[in-house]
Amino acid sequence: MLQQTRVDTVIPYFEAFTRRWPTLEAFASATEQDVTEAWAGLGYYRRARNLHAAAKAAVARGGLPADVAALRELPGIGPYTAGAIASIAFGLPAPAVDGNVERVLSRWAARRGDPSTPSGRRAITEVVSTLQPTDRAGDFNQALMDLGATVCTPKNPKCAVCPWATQCESHRLGVVHEIPETVKKAPPKPEREACGVMFVEGQVLLARRHRSLRLGGLWEPPSTPVADGEDPATQLSILFSRDLSLPVEIGASLGSVVHVFTHRRLTLHVFEVLPAASHECAAVCGRYDAWRVGGTHGLSKLAQKALSLAHPTD
Ligand code: SF4
Repeated sequence: MLQQTRVDTVIPYFEAFTRRWPTLEAFASATEQDVTEAWAGLGYYRRARNLHAAAKAAVARGGLPADVAALRELPGIGPYTAGAIASIAFGLPAPAVDGNVERVLSRWAARRGDPSTPSGRRAITEVVSTLQPTDRAGDFNQALMDLGATVCTPKNPKCAVCPWATQCESHRLGVVHEIPETVKKAPPKPEREACGVMFVEGQVLLARRHRSLRLGGLWEPPSTPVADGEDPATQLSILFSRDLSLPVEIGASLGSVVHVFTHRRLTLHVFEVLPAASHECAAVCGRYDAWRVGGTHGLSKLAQKALSLAHPTD
């Protein structure tokens, strides 16, 4: 849950998950749809599916293995997660190199080059391996992560209070602000979609995205991609009348919301949709596999943003 996500966002999700599924076995026996809906709003939904698949695979093997190589065989578990579980849960000496550790060790060793590339990460992993004690390996990994999160921060590292300052090569050389040398990532690609908010007896019509799609298994007001040069309202009208077999009138624009995914920046144009005689749609249309009216569970963050335009809070 904590990958790419802030601690204060994660805490209520972590507590709800562990209350609902207090054991590995209980979590493994949940349905994928229940897990996806409980994850709704955390983003990066592939992590939820991988976590669930890993729990099922671990239970099938008799429990979580206390071994880095065996942990790596579970779905979604890469070197960082395997190292974190092995060292923190089982006390094994295994490096766990995240973005914080990359930055701290690059500076500590005054290592040039981008530490987030495969070769950079390998080099940092080797440095951690040489420093890591055989006992309290998990505490060592967590101390490095905490040092990066609270002292050796990206912009203004607090070298004056750093417990490692006397051994830090970048500090000694006065090059702290030149390291790490990270390569600028390409900006996210712009994309457009249109969605229609239709009320049925005061409740909004929601569709569940097919599991093969981005945000699969989550609920939203029906939406459709809009290519360059296409008109959002026209595309929405085509979605409702042709794909959903639901002839409606596209009403006023409610505005637009922007949502940034890992590599894409989506602008969602939100429209009011005037109720048709019936909301009985084609149950399955490729894009959606279920329908409901009202309710708030299982809504993606993007859908929540779109619906906030239809339910102004001020
Ligand atoms: S001395 Fe400064 S640069 Fe070096 S590890 Fe500490 S905070 Fe980071």
